[in-house]
Amino acid sequence: MSTTVTRNPNSSTKKSKPAASPFRSSVILDEVGLPKDPDNLYTQTVDVMLHAAELLEVPRYVQLIMAQPKNEIMVHFPVKMDNGQYELFKGYRVQHNNALGPYKGGLRFHPDVHLDDVKSLALLMTMKCALTRLPFGGGKGGVKCDPRKLSSGELMRVTRRFAAAISHAIGPDYDIPAPDVGTNAQVMAWFADTYESLSDSNRNSWDALRVVTGKPVEIGGSLGREKATGQGVVDVLVELLPSIGIDIKGMKFSVIGYGNVGSWTARILAKLGAKLVAVMDHTGGIRNDAGLDTELLAEHVAKAGGVAGYGKGGKAAKNGATAVSAEEFYKTPVDVLVPAALEQMIKAEQAKYVNCKVIAEGANAPTTPAGDRVLNDRGIEVVPAILANSGGVTVSYFEWVQNKTCTSWDIEEVDRKLNQHMVSAARRTLLARQKYACDMRTAAYIAALEQIGKVYAVRGIFP
Ligand code: NAD
Repeated sequence: MSTTVTRNPNSSTKKSKPAASPFRSSVILDEVGLPKDPDNLYTQTVDVMLHAAELLEVPRYVQLIMAQPKNEIMVHFPVKMDNGQYELFKGYRVQHNNALGPYKGGLRFHPDVHLDDVKSLALLMTMKCALTRLPFGGGKGGVKCDPRKLSSGELMRVTRRFAAAISHAIGPDYDIPAPDVGTNAQVMAWFADTYESLSDSNRNSWDALRVVTGKPVEIGGSLGREKATGQGVVDVLVELLPSIGIDIKGMKFSVIGYGNVGSWTARILAKLGAKLVAVMDHTGGIRNDAGLDTELLAEHVAKAGGVAGYGKGGKAAKNGATAVSAEEFYKTPVDVLVPAALEQMIKAEQAKYVNCKVIAEGANAPTTPAGDRVLNDRGIEVVPAILANSGGVTVSYFEWVQNKTCTSWDIEEVDRKLNQHMVSAARRTLLARQKYACDMRTAAYIAALEQIGKVYAVRGIFP
């Protein structure tokens, strides 16, 4: 039985701010000294959270706490490169909040990683874990580097030095990283092995590996973790789309990014009868209105490093594609657009010309507030990241529980439990949306903050 999505009432609320301000909440932005720059990603993320907190009437002290991370760790470490020279790398770990449980969140290896980015992603993790009712808080980390330009040996040394640099600040019951953009199960294995090697000698070595999730199955990874975020996106769409009047079987969709989240979302949707008609990644855009072969495209990306050149030969020659510009990609008519790459890819400009009924945020923070306003005015539904992509952290939690209890679940059990979590989170969001007459993003934050507010109410603040 799927959930009914009432159309966004788009009503103004009793606490809405004058239209001139780009922020929906400003009091605490001033108090905590955040930059009043509408393009600053952290300010944008905090503003969304505070707007929801005001609607929910979360106590002011909780709003203040949530507006800044608890800890921001920055490290610099040297790594010997293949050419014999040393390079200095910069790494981050931001621990946003642990009221609900250990800090939890991915590690990103990307040239654009910077502190505000990591802070925003850490806040999103706090919200995501609270919305899905996982016993975790939020964290995020990363290294400013381009993993595509590193040899396998260099990537391993960067990972191990980074793990050593932050090993004092993380732990299997304190802060548990996972894969994100530019990292994968192999990186998690090197990270866990380094942490274990540096940890107490009398500690159970297998237990120390619990310090990360998204590990290879051989060292305690969960079945279903690799596809989990994409599976979660699909579970939420299956729950929500029928009442928006979209039948997954036969629907057209497009994807930004064909990495972990984008490719798994596409492959699982294709198995349900949906048709992938356009993809864009860092190498370019491709389109085929008759439908792209999601499996052949994944093989092509694994070999070529991106979607560009797909269908020009080999097995995919019969399933050709036309190269398209970014603008042509966004204008391709689809039912659902799944951004699954980086932040801020749907700004006001793109929001004006996207040609879809629903945007399902596989990526974190892909839509800017200005983009959101345009989409809202155009009646395009946005399934927010903290709901749509929470499947990854949910199966990470399953992995952590399996490791703690020395068990391993079969894929059917993982998928079934994941589906329960995703459907419950979707229903919680829609209930909040109905009650507070707001958009789906604000509703998801409200549903998350309800949980955090309750925990602070009973725990109080030390001393
Ligand atoms: P990934 O490294 O596997 O893939 C990233 C994709 O982004 C690649 O296809 C790359 O080509 C594309 N990309 C990079 N720059 C681009 C650009 N300028 N234009 C278009 N495409 C570009 O990363 P991933 O794990 O799939 O993560 C993607 C997003 O999903 C991120 O926002 C991440 O935080 C989020 N996320 C990931 C997980 C997870 O389990 N991996 C969980 C939740 C959320």
